[in-house]
Amino acid sequence: MRYSQTLIPTIKEVPADAEIISHQLMLRAGLMRKLASGTYIYLPAGQRMLDKVMRIVRQEMNRTGAQEITMPFVQPLELWEKTGRDVDYGETLGQFTDRHGRGNVLSPTAEEGFAFLGANEIKSYKQLPMNLYQVNTKYRDEFRPRFGVLRSREFIMKDAYSFHLNEDCLHKTYMEMYDAYCRIFDRCGVEFVIVLAESGEMGGSGSHQFTVPCENGEDVIVYTDDDKEAWNIEKAPVDPLPKQDPVEAGPVEEVHTPKTGTIEDVCAFLKLKPEQLIKTLIYTAGDERVVVLVRGDHEVNPEKLIRLLDGIHHEMADEAAIVELTGAAVGFAGPVGLFGKVSKVFIDHAVAAMAVGATGANKTDYHLMNVVPGRDFPTDGETVQVVDIRNAVEGDTYEGKTLLFKRGIEVGQVFKLGDKYSKKLGANCLGEDGKQRDLLMGCYGIGVNRIIASAIENGHDENGMILPITIAPWEVIVTPAGKEDEIVEAADKIYQQLLAAGVEVLIDDRKARAGIKFKDADLLGIPIRVTIGKKSLAEGQVEFKIRSEPDHSTLPLDTAAQQVAEMVQNMKAKLDKPKQ
Ligand code: ATP
Ligand code: MG
Repeated sequence: MRYSQTLIPTIKEVPADAEIISHQLMLRAGLMRKLASGTYIYLPAGQRMLDKVMRIVRQEMNRTGAQEITMPFVQPLELWEKTGRDVDYGETLGQFTDRHGRGNVLSPTAEEGFAFLGANEIKSYKQLPMNLYQVNTKYRDEFRPRFGVLRSREFIMKDAYSFHLNEDCLHKTYMEMYDAYCRIFDRCGVEFVIVLAESGEMGGSGSHQFTVPCENGEDVIVYTDDDKEAWNIEKAPVDPLPKQDPVEAGPVEEVHTPKTGTIEDVCAFLKLKPEQLIKTLIYTAGDERVVVLVRGDHEVNPEKLIRLLDGIHHEMADEAAIVELTGAAVGFAGPVGLFGKVSKVFIDHAVAAMAVGATGANKTDYHLMNVVPGRDFPTDGETVQVVDIRNAVEGDTYEGKTLLFKRGIEVGQVFKLGDKYSKKLGANCLGEDGKQRDLLMGCYGIGVNRIIASAIENGHDENGMILPITIAPWEVIVTPAGKEDEIVEAADKIYQQLLAAGVEVLIDDRKARAGIKFKDADLLGIPIRVTIGKKSLAEGQVEFKIRSEPDHSTLPLDTAAQQVAEMVQNMKAKLDKPKQ
């Protein structure tokens, strides 16, 4: 392609609202432009990158025998009502009512649609296993779209859904997807780690996430110091803390703590550290109330709570519900005398291990001191359980091994869904024994746009992107550094030769200074630059530079195209033949 005729609107300045490097560089290199909060227009260079990632994804999916289809992006709300996800998906679900008054969903994922298809088309075990996928637009009304395409409202996902009659068959396809994902990320040139994840609102029994470690990632990966096990923070288990030595605690003492609705306020007022406080959180699940106790310095882990509630839909109690239950304003709830009024209590191990603590008094502007777990509120009973319900933190162990933490970007996830969707949507079929069974499903998602952003997060320098050749917008850029006829002619000849050799090449034929051309080539992260300059041309040479390496070298004009084409092949082969 010719630069002069391609829309590559690079910009020098760092865009003001782009916080992280991938977002900045995607704008600066002219890959995309923002249309609205969380939606982006992909321009030609960005589109080429998307296409290349999608091509790799499709090749690896097809290699496993998965079949590509296209599901409508707008789906009937009715299907979502059948699975209860019209509610469970919450406000992230984009919806509209059409002119006939029918509810519609903008697909944020597509279990319902694929289970509907399975229910209608799978009639016999002979068709199984079946794995169907699409590469399609998704919409999520994200609470806080940010970081460019990393958390956008509209994005492209490859989502696959498999159907099976038994666990073994599901496991086999699950592992095939797992392996295909490894090949996809290897071929895209992004380093990744695989962590055990929670299947959460999706339902189901097993899940892995593919995460690209990087500072700006929103996910936290937790791993043991021997590197043997790794989890998403949502899933990471922690050992119970050792029971603190008992102290001589006097009787419970009520203290006046005006205007101390937050942990920080209480700590400042009572001169305590957060770990000496017991935080009381109240949830509603239908008409029921659930209480969770964690230490003041710990956070409730929502996924662990979902698991403990067997997936029952629940929400943080609103102000009215808290006032009704505790008789106090928000911020003054506490366990003493509260448990009789609720249907479930989950006490984190770390709270049960406390010798003594301070907590809300269920009375506005009051706290209780000298509260001893087990003495002043029960730590067991029919509705009371001591459990692991908080996020792991620095200093925690699991099975005695120290837990370490790293940030990362989730680029893909695989799930075993079990029969959650097939049961509700009637996806069943006759087994070999003639008996009708609900199908088991797996689902497998990849964020196409996030692959690009994570490649940039981990591949850049002060001059711009440094991209893996398999996903770079072009493999080679030919840069004529001068207006003279012989330079233009030589550059054009190499360009034509590279095109003929099947290389994806951009020629910078703009009437611009060489310095500007070099800057843009660097910004775009094109892996190889061939420069035709006056001096080297006079010696029958062209200049050659690999984007990721500091030094230039020269190649003979006559064989340059051929040598560069071979280099491109070698660079691609390195990524296309992933490590075993
Ligand atoms: P997250 O936890 O980051 O919100 P998720 O776990 O809800 O993501 P999945 O339902 O597993 O996402 O979707 C599959 C893939 O789609 C994710 O692994 C991710 O790569 C991509 N993805 C999800 N949400 C977004 C988004 N808002 N913007 C861009 N990509 C996304
Ligand atoms: Mg996920």
